[in-house]
Amino acid sequence: MIWDQLTSAQIGALDKNIPVLLPLTATEQHGGHLPLATDRLIGEHFAHCLHTEMSGTVLILPAINVGCSDHHMDFPGTLSLTHGTFLLVVKEMIVSVLRHGFNKIILLNSHGGNQGIMNVVAEQLGYENPGTHIVTVTWWVLAQEALRKITETGPGGTGHACEFETSLIQLIANHLVDNASIQKGQNMPAFTWAEGDMLRGPAASYYRTFKSKTSNGIYGNPLKASAQKGQQITTTVVHALKQIVIDIYRINEQNL
Ligand SMILES: [Zn+2]
Repeated sequence: MIWDQLTSAQIGALDKNIPVLLPLTATEQHGGHLPLATDRLIGEHFAHCLHTEMSGTVLILPAINVGCSDHHMDFPGTLSLTHGTFLLVVKEMIVSVLRHGFNKIILLNSHGGNQGIMNVVAEQLGYENPGTHIVTVTWWVLAQEALRKITETGPGGTGHACEFETSLIQLIANHLVDNASIQKGQNMPAFTWAEGDMLRGPAASYYRTFKSKTSNGIYGNPLKASAQKGQQITTTVVHALKQIVIDIYRINEQNL
């Protein structure tokens, strides 16, 4: 079910054990070939596909469509909330949901810069609302092992406006992809311990603006992207999300 397509009375009558999913996304540069909406389109796509498979047992909230993107501000068009603002927006939206009686929340994130605050929100909400079950998930981390079987670009190939994100947008909204502008990311190595991508996190993190990490705004290799690969990624991620919904829906039955 889609939260804002139901009536107030319909929400009131729902089983409050149904997990409520909030997509955390962003509006930011994605190289010369993908739209600013990339992370929102991807987050909403996974939520929509999950909903298609299990519409009666998951409730989808409207996406938060601006995230923590200060590190992308060197590129025109990027919109960003400061960490404190983003924390309050996400937290207060979930507090509203809790006030209506729901107690199972999934934060589905599609932007790397949101991860830190997402985890803080979950810790605060969990501490302040005993009995609430909160799951935080970033899609490429959720299915990392299975996604490794899909990638063809090797270390450094996935990251941003990359093999994976380009494949997904080619699947979801190909009319928004400027295929003629697809080029490899200009990944600028810093230190071995700081090297990483979506499938292999770095040993330690080293803060750089995105412009100093890659001058063309792309990290990875979108030349190996395809809509077919986008479908494989979707199947993998949605399968893993489905298990989370099933597991947290059953929590009370299991007295966890
Ligand atoms: Zn992205």
